[in-house]
Amino acid sequence: MKRKAKRRTKRRVVAKHDLGIDEKLNKKVNYRKLRLKAGLEIHQQLDTRHKLYCSCSAGLQQRRTSMEVIRRQHPVASELGAMDIATQYEAMRDRKFKYKVYPFETCLIELDEEPPHNLNSEALSIAIEIALLLKCEIPSEIHIMRKTITDGSNTGAFQRTAIIGLNGWLKYGSKKIEITQVCLEEDAAAIVEEENEKITYRLNRLGIPLVEISTGILEGYSPKQIQEIAYLIGIICRSTGKVKHGIGSIRQDVNVSIRNGPRVEVKGVQELGLVAKVVEKEVARQMELKRVVHETRAANPDGTTRFTRPLPGAARMYPETDIIPISIERAGLKKIKSELPESWTKKLTRFKKKLKLSNDLAIQIIGSDFLSLFEKIMKKYPRLSAAVVANVFTSTLKDIRRKKIDVNRLEEKHLISIFAELSKKKIVKEAIPELLVNFVKNPDESVTEAIRKLNLTILKKSEIKKIISQLVKDSPDTPRDKLYGIAMSRVRGRVDSQEVMELVKRFKRK
Ligand SMILES: [Zn+2]
Repeated sequence: MKRKAKRRTKRRVVAKHDLGIDEKLNKKVNYRKLRLKAGLEIHQQLDTRHKLYCSCSAGLQQRRTSMEVIRRQHPVASELGAMDIATQYEAMRDRKFKYKVYPFETCLIELDEEPPHNLNSEALSIAIEIALLLKCEIPSEIHIMRKTITDGSNTGAFQRTAIIGLNGWLKYGSKKIEITQVCLEEDAAAIVEEENEKITYRLNRLGIPLVEISTGILEGYSPKQIQEIAYLIGIICRSTGKVKHGIGSIRQDVNVSIRNGPRVEVKGVQELGLVAKVVEKEVARQMELKRVVHETRAANPDGTTRFTRPLPGAARMYPETDIIPISIERAGLKKIKSELPESWTKKLTRFKKKLKLSNDLAIQIIGSDFLSLFEKIMKKYPRLSAAVVANVFTSTLKDIRRKKIDVNRLEEKHLISIFAELSKKKIVKEAIPELLVNFVKNPDESVTEAIRKLNLTILKKSEIKKIISQLVKDSPDTPRDKLYGIAMSRVRGRVDSQEVMELVKRFKRK
């Protein structure tokens, strides 16, 4: 028994890191016995200036629409005479689609009134970079294909997709996870509202470049491990520094089957932290059913799923004839290879050894939106404690957000100026939360002004000693622990609490 438990802890690479799931959930279910098989499809938006097939901005900044367009879809048979089952199902519903058009972020291409322009080369090189980091083989020619999509999220009723990498892998503990393919795709339009058979979409998301990363069948893994694999793929994408952050920028589809039953595809899991829950709930749902149906379901925010449509047939891909195949020059590929970012495993080792971060904190900062800023600050101010800097990004900002203070208003320069003062020993780390809150409210103030205004100038040892002796003089019978508390309340944010503790301990009463 003991040996078994030991082996289990060893395999968990992302071991103690809290991925935000309820550990107690379904602990009794034996997923190995149930022969749980899962497959992941991770969609990560790329951070490019323009969209994939036009020069519209990919910024998603516009709030006001310039026009609305209404469309319906009519099904037609393919060149081989077949009609896709998902397409027939959608046609039966006879839905009406309304599209919101945004200035600078939508053009005739998104409206399917103009053929696509050339493939965005910036997006192509980021996709190749991700494919290489996932150890994929890169084809010598890129062929753009059309994939039938009939839910209205693509005005042309198809999505353009191209295989950029094949047969890759990813290390997960001692195991190798197969990456079957990496595709470069255009994102679909986003649903604004859905009412009976009327759906409203915003067209500015249509055409944003994204990579779709598909794993092989994951067998013998628990839902939590499947989530960790998804998390690792997310970390690898982020390590390029060229992908979008925030809600909706990374979305997962998860295929789930048990006991060799049919595969059910759950689409649109919006958060990495929800993958395990979705798998657990989908397994529970399939266990209750007498007969599982081969179908597509959508993820709800609580981890449960709802039916959307039957799984489309294999015949839903056909070539995009408006764009000729693109050949990948070996020279260009060599250049991308030589400039690949440090692998995440190397980064983890470096953060632990050189920066002395704990395993947990290192994983948290590597997976956070602030990784590049963290590295920039550590490079600029190498004397700072990496743990202090990492903690500001992984917990202080979260604490402030919890108080309903909009930390998104903070800019890079604010954080850099605070760490500059900390590095010059002009402030103590305890002053950081107050300075951050102040920058949210007064973004144009300088850090020195803020320090003066908030009375956060660091206190000299002699000044602290003076305060303590004054306190003792005022009430000589105060016990030391109370004395520490009172002293701290007087000097909070201006001293290192450890230093006050030492001084109180060593203080000799006359
Ligand atoms: Zn456009």
